[in-house]
Amino acid sequence: KRKKIAERVTTLMDKPQFIRNIGIVAHIDHGKTTLSDNLLGGAGMISMDLAGKQLFMDFDPLEQARGITIDAANVSMVHEVDGKEYLINMIDTPGHVDFGGDVTRAMRAVDGAVVVVDAVEGAMPQTETVLRQALKEGVRPVLFVNKVDRMINELKVEKKDMAARLGKVIDNVNKLILGMDEEKYKAGWKLDAAKGNIAFGSALYNWAISVPQMKKTGIGFDQVVDYCHEGKMKELAEKVPLYIAVNDMVVKFLPSPIEAQKERVGVIWHGDWDSPVGKAMASCDPNGPVAFMINKVKVDPHAGEVATGRLFSGTLRRGMELYVSGFGGTNRIQQTGVVMGAERVEVEEIPAGNIAAVTGLRDAIVGSTISSEENMTPFEQIKHVSEPVMTVAVEAKNTRDLPKVVEVLRQIAKEDPTLQVTINEETGEHLMAGMGELHLDVTVTRLQRDRGVELKTSPPIVVYRESIAGHAGPVEGKSPNHHNRFYIEFEPLEEGVIQSLKEGKISMKMEEIERRKLLIENGMDKDEARNISGYYGTNILLNMTKGIQYLRETMELILEGFEEALKNGPICREPVQGIKAKIMDVKLHEDAVHRGPAQVIPAVRQAVQAGILMADPVLLEPFQNVYIQVPQDQMGGAMSEIQGRRGVILNMDSQGDMVILKSKMPVAQMFGFSGAIRSATEGRALWSTEFAGFEPLPANLLLETVKQIRTRKGLKPEMPKPSDYLKVV
Ligand code: GDP
Repeated sequence: KRKKIAERVTTLMDKPQFIRNIGIVAHIDHGKTTLSDNLLGGAGMISMDLAGKQLFMDFDPLEQARGITIDAANVSMVHEVDGKEYLINMIDTPGHVDFGGDVTRAMRAVDGAVVVVDAVEGAMPQTETVLRQALKEGVRPVLFVNKVDRMINELKVEKKDMAARLGKVIDNVNKLILGMDEEKYKAGWKLDAAKGNIAFGSALYNWAISVPQMKKTGIGFDQVVDYCHEGKMKELAEKVPLYIAVNDMVVKFLPSPIEAQKERVGVIWHGDWDSPVGKAMASCDPNGPVAFMINKVKVDPHAGEVATGRLFSGTLRRGMELYVSGFGGTNRIQQTGVVMGAERVEVEEIPAGNIAAVTGLRDAIVGSTISSEENMTPFEQIKHVSEPVMTVAVEAKNTRDLPKVVEVLRQIAKEDPTLQVTINEETGEHLMAGMGELHLDVTVTRLQRDRGVELKTSPPIVVYRESIAGHAGPVEGKSPNHHNRFYIEFEPLEEGVIQSLKEGKISMKMEEIERRKLLIENGMDKDEARNISGYYGTNILLNMTKGIQYLRETMELILEGFEEALKNGPICREPVQGIKAKIMDVKLHEDAVHRGPAQVIPAVRQAVQAGILMADPVLLEPFQNVYIQVPQDQMGGAMSEIQGRRGVILNMDSQGDMVILKSKMPVAQMFGFSGAIRSATEGRALWSTEFAGFEPLPANLLLETVKQIRTRKGLKPEMPKPSDYLKVV
């Protein structure tokens, strides 16, 4: 049966006006998986009786066991509207914000999104997060209001109140869209039941209606309420099957690649529109140059790296040599295919407008641009909303597995760009940093299960940042031969500049004039903005000197010393952020032999290390927003759990007899939260988290925390002094 579907899929692949690339997004538990099953059932991929029970998209047993969807999986299916067949490529997206990076990556590949909202709960924090990610990528939403059966049977909402109740859910989603993108809202992206871009139904019982469906079938809210009261769910599902209402809506209201690419390419690509590749993408031209954006890489034990992504122009075929951005060379395509759940079905060629899975792109990583043109401007980087905030040390259980573990960690970093794998140089251990406890836990479990390695991990630890709150300097850095001296001042970098660096808006590659303008706009002094020598992370090095001989040719080494000091900061070897270092004076030996790397790098490194310790050093700790949904009478328990962990309540909202608490908490205080909130609320609380940035650690906790981190890293426990770094000989 799957074979047959594959045939129909391939015949539709080269008719982009009949293609829809979509994602389903939702707050956890609102029914995304159950809805996906309905669509697969409708397409004949699973038995309809199993829809809602089989959880096809969650084919990973680990996900099944946890009851959450972690990895975006893709499925292609065929749907008929008014006698015409359409190809719907659906990308599954994770329902847990700890894996928020996956949602962003999936949105890059699609043009439309079905937003699922629980009729009883209404829009929830993650509804907002996923909707924002969709709109940012130029992805158009339609709405599915799910669990209408619960509204009728459990909440006992009466016929006359149905429209008003559902209207409230819709209004809230519309408010979110309006707040995020007024222009699009006014241009027709507003959700409107009368227009037909909203469907209402029950994914669990496989039925749904929309205004166009009501007109066709004569079944409206009144009839639905009657069927529900009489418990005739099966009959209702036969009269108004969910997959028809939803797929019709997808076909009618979400754009085809031809329509979407005209607009979307401008959002995700900033190259020349008049170039051959620009024109080909705007018109989704299968005969143009290849422009393929990778949004997922998975290492398959048999086929090697399978790279999945969206083909914006050109046609992919076996044997093609394509350029991989950031790598500087070409890779040869081995196989081309489409993904159907756990299976990859091989096809001869894949034309523009489709989601393709190919093997052979060994040097591609998530976010790579693959092109037949050597100099194609790459797609915009995929922006992740989160930063890694937790680390585990990973070791091989058996030392003979060590080379394999190193290899497996390299692969996983390629597959999941939100993971950072580094090596602790003191201890030689591998450190894996991720977006939360669950993210790391799932990654380690998977590595053991899928890659046949046995791992030992340390308990997770929080990732800190080092920074400064005051001024220092000039600090003198002396080279070992005493012939070169650097005088550097330190102060905190402007907040706006830090933000722009984080967002990748400022770089050394951009025009000097434009960079200067941006820096000044973000609060930097005019004189300083003109003297940028380089940056590292969110730290900037300025050269405030004039006319010093040999300085220009030495600058590269100076920057190296700067980086070495910041990569592993002087306080406790955590990364440094938000430093402005100003070179005020320099003395260099006139003979190049005496101002080489072995002289310059340590001199600068030591000055920066000592300077940070002299400029009121601080540690920054990561925070998470924590959203908790809890019944009124259990609210007290949840509140004291937040407050006992240095948490702050940001907002409180009630919906029926539930309260939604928005709070903010240091990640360091989140350990064991899961169990604690469960017992504090008799298991009645639902909660989720979201990265909320770094903030200074309270001064009274600084010394103790520094001691803990240093001890753990095998360093001497006391807070170091500037003189520990300035090795005056
Ligand atoms: P996801 O986290 O968004 O993927 O949500 P799931 O599809 O896993 O659904 C979460 C829970 O809600 C499961 O227990 C489903 O059986 C249940 N559920 C999903 N859709 C409906 C519905 O329409 N009506 C009712 N009563 N329950 C539903």
